[in-house]
Amino acid sequence: MKRLLCVALAAALVLCGCAADAWRAVEMREETVWAMDTVMDLKLWGKGAEEGIGQITAMLYALDEKWSVTRQESVLSRMNRGEDPALTPQDEDLLVRVEALSQRTGGAFNPWMHSVSAAWGFYGGNYRVPTQAQIDEALAQRQLDLGAALKGYAGQQAVELLEKLDMERGILTLGGNVQTYGEKPDGSPWNVGIQNPNGGVLGTLAVTGTASIVTSGSYQRYFEENGVRYHHILDPKTGYPADTGLTSVTVICRDGLTADALSTALFVMGLERGSDFWRESDDFEAVFLLTDGRIYATAGACLSGCEYEVISR
Ligand code: ADP
Ligand code: MG
Repeated sequence: MKRLLCVALAAALVLCGCAADAWRAVEMREETVWAMDTVMDLKLWGKGAEEGIGQITAMLYALDEKWSVTRQESVLSRMNRGEDPALTPQDEDLLVRVEALSQRTGGAFNPWMHSVSAAWGFYGGNYRVPTQAQIDEALAQRQLDLGAALKGYAGQQAVELLEKLDMERGILTLGGNVQTYGEKPDGSPWNVGIQNPNGGVLGTLAVTGTASIVTSGSYQRYFEENGVRYHHILDPKTGYPADTGLTSVTVICRDGLTADALSTALFVMGLERGSDFWRESDDFEAVFLLTDGRIYATAGACLSGCEYEVISR
């Protein structure tokens, strides 16, 4: 009996050893690229990782070229000049979905504020506080800017590419966005850190399978004038940086475009309106970091490593 047990144990150990070796032997490829004005880190495991990295990189460059606000010949710039560039069905679909997200958020996510961001000098870093007349004039213009949604959309496009390639798993860091894909072999969740604006990690989100984790924060792009800090997330109602007592909002959602648009929208809404918006929805979780340092997380967000209040339904 004892012997049988030993044999069984030995067999189990060999099996474990094989599994561990198989995991180690899995091909892993990592690549850092610069696109959409930010650093992107692509990490893929499994057969075809090389091909996956190549296809995702090409997709990121193509999206950047098409929807860049700074390239004069991008489709977006041409639309903003009143031209009528040819749009693919996929482009049309993106614009329809972006418009739907704007409606869903009551306009807190507004992709038509390019002129307002430009008035503040957020493109090119020529920062200035515009006059009220300049803000009013800019608000009256309808100029497309996908800055709050494109990286999330890119994450979603990457997932679709990886599914087609039948890839196993990967994790993509697209600026402040994280896109996970697939399950880890041991079934453990992906651990995604939320950045602490003062350095280090604020807390860690445990995410299972494919998801998009997107943070919008006032510390990401800003300038100071006469001791006042002006950041890049604008309240579409006023044309001024959203001032809702938040430092950042992180959204966890299956769909990347939705995650990105909602992180910006919730920042504009603030904690109370944002919590109500979550209660009316069923497709995302969120973590709010307040300017006084307090943290609030919706009931389904698996946050650890920090103290926080739970927002319940
Ligand atoms: P980041 O692009 O820094 O990751 P966001 O996703 O929150 O952060 O997007 C902010 C960008 O979106 C701004 O730089 C600007 O181009 C644009 N933007 C600013 N305010 C809004 C808004 N209320 N709705 C939609 N887009 C916005
Ligand atoms: Mg966003």
